[in-house]
Amino acid sequence: QADMALFKAKEAGRDTLRFFDPAMQAQLQQRARLEADLRQALPRGEFRLHYQPQVGGDGRMTGVEALLRWAHPAHGMVSPGDFIPLAEENRLIVPIGGWVLETACRQLAAWAADPATAELTISVNVSPVQFREAGFAEQVLATLARTGAPPTRLKLEVTESLFVDDRDEARKTMLCLKEHGVTFSLDDFGTGYSSLSYLKRLPLDQLKIDQSFVRDLLEDEASAAIVASTIALSESLQLEVIAEGVETEAQRAWLMAQGCQAFQGYFFGRPGPVESLPLQA
Ligand code: C2E
Ligand code: MG
Ligand code: MG
Ligand code: MG
Repeated sequence: QADMALFKAKEAGRDTLRFFDPAMQAQLQQRARLEADLRQALPRGEFRLHYQPQVGGDGRMTGVEALLRWAHPAHGMVSPGDFIPLAEENRLIVPIGGWVLETACRQLAAWAADPATAELTISVNVSPVQFREAGFAEQVLATLARTGAPPTRLKLEVTESLFVDDRDEARKTMLCLKEHGVTFSLDDFGTGYSSLSYLKRLPLDQLKIDQSFVRDLLEDEASAAIVASTIALSESLQLEVIAEGVETEAQRAWLMAQGCQAFQGYFFGRPGPVESLPLQA
């Protein structure tokens, strides 16, 4: 595919001579290789789900976020930031997201069978591309039914970008799933460009304060103000609020004092395979 693109660029003439910049050519080839590998990743069983604890005010784990990992045969563990944008472009995120959902639901069903873990929730990130696919709600419900996972333990993490153009469609999909007990969290809150008015209309359950604000909370007054306002806003809208990217005890204490009741971050635990979770066996 890369060769084809180069050939076409050559044919197109002078204006595209920049394609023959060796650095750019290398980049193009690397991308084509990544895309070819990504197409094989699902059939070859190279994806893994890692889980990161989410804790309440008392420090007890209430649930986890499922984070996708790609065990690439040559490059080792590849981070989602390095392949999800590409998977969204070529729509591979649809089958990949289906696998994530299935795997998380199977874990939920296993936990539901044991009273010690039955209350734990799993938050699953859903790409707007996947969410907007026709039949997405039905697919989620079918996965829940097939695996026997309790719908009330599944939380779907969506981002503001989902509500930019097709808010009504997204709302319908959310309402359908909520009827069955599935909950919704708004991930990376405050980093999008959408207006706050959608918060009134969408059936959200939780706001997730973006880690960029949490990171410099104690050094930057603007970040602190944004976090404090988000906590207050959640309270008045009766939404749960969770802070992500909490790395220190000082950040946790500050957030607690502001009224935040749920936390996630390296301070409480890094993402890892299910065996790494602090579950009382
Ligand atoms: P996100 O959903 O906002 O996930 C939080 C990211 O922050 C994760 O990165 C997590 O490992 C990292 N993180 C957690 N605690 C800390 C901390 O204390 N400090 C710092 N510096 N980072 C922390 P990760 O796993 O690389 O995932 C990156 C993004 O990729 C996610 O951001 C999410 O948007 C996306 N993603 C991950 N899994 C999936 C998936 O299954 N489907 C889709 N569509 N997107 C996914
Ligand atoms: Mg997330
Ligand atoms: Mg986030
Ligand atoms: Mg993020």
